Order: sequence, then structure tokens, then C-alpha cells
Amino acid sequence: MNACLQRIEEIFRAIDTLYAAAQRSYGFSCEGCGDNCCSTKFHHHTFVEELYLAEGLKELDKERRRELLSRADEVARIHSASPDDVRVMCPLNEGGRCSVYGHRPLICRVHGIPYEMHGRDMSVEYGTGCHRFMSEKVKEGMKYFPFNRTMFYVEMARLEKAVRESGGFMGASYGKTTAEMVQSILRKT
Ligand code: SF4
Ligand code: SF4
Repeated sequence: MNACLQRIEEIFRAIDTLYAAAQRSYGFSCEGCGDNCCSTKFHHHTFVEELYLAEGLKELDKERRRELLSRADEVARIHSASPDDVRVMCPLNEGGRCSVYGHRPLICRVHGIPYEMHGRDMSVEYGTGCHRFMSEKVKEGMKYFPFNRTMFYVEMARLEKAVRESGGFMGASYGKTTAEMVQSILRKT
């Protein structure tokens, strides 16, 4: 399992490096954003992200973990009683900062910047940046920076497959919100 954590760390480091280059190229930052994407109901699709997040949560003391679990329970309760586009702050966001920043999941690392995805048939699909990005940067007439997510997703899928084959995750498919991930991890500790 250590090899898995090491690999996910390498993938995430590569994402962070490219993301930082894109931010520099656009002159874009999240500083002072009133439209915090941490209140989006993100869904995560790999068990390896849960394993990695668990490592980050292990670094927090027992009391903080207990508080985060109670917040995750509350967020999960709101999610289950609300439409899918409900906005409620992620249980891991404390005072505007991510309490597990170094171990945050994939979508938290790629959200915000416009991107492209390449298909096997050589097709390319483009995705927009977050609302703030689009309203600020498109107006400024930005020069597109090619943020290609494809290899990152392919590598994550490979890693997920390897973990499943080694018996690390037995479910048919994986899909959890951050609150549900936190519940799964912290209920075991
Ligand atoms: S895990 Fe961290 S970065 Fe991701 S939504 Fe939650 S607080 Fe924000
Ligand atoms: S990615 Fe966009 S929505 Fe999220 S905090 Fe940064 S500027 Fe705000």
C-alpha cells in the first residue's frame, strides 16, 4: 500500500506543478474568492483518494478528528435532504483553509482552471474554469494555457485498478462526497 501512496503523491505533485504554471500564466489566484468552491458538492471516484486523504487526517489530533467527523455527519445529513446542487461548506474547510490541504482529493487540485481532455479517437473536449475565472479572465482576453487533465485521470485509473486487483477495495464502483469519505475514514479510527 505504501507504493500506492507514493504513486498518488507523484501524480498529485505533477498536477500541482502544472496547475501552478497555469495560474502563473493567467495571473490567476483564489485569494479573496467569495465564491468558494469548497462548498460545491464534489463527488470523488477513486478509493485511492480516500486512502490518501486518510493519511492527511491521521496527522490531526484526536479532538480535531472528532470535530471533523461531527461536521461531516452534519454535511452528509444536509446533502441527503437537499437537491444535488446545494451549497454547503466542506467539513474539512476550517476558516477558509483546507485542514488536509496536502492530502486533498483530485478535483480540489484541478478545479478552477480551464482544461482539456483527449479521447482515444483523438477527439479533444474543453472544459471551462470556475465562475470567478471565467468572469475575470475571459473579460481580460486571456491567452489559453493547455491544462490537459487526461494523463492524470489515466494514471489515477491505473492506480485504482492496481489497488482493486490487490484486494484493497472490494466494491463494484466507488463514488463518495468528501463528507462521506471523512465518515468512512474517521468512523474506523
Ligand atoms: S477537501 Fe479541502 S480543498 Fe477540497 S473541498 Fe474540502 S476543504 Fe476544500
Ligand atoms: S477555484 Fe475558483 S471558485 Fe474555487 S476558490 Fe479558486 S477562484 Fe474561487
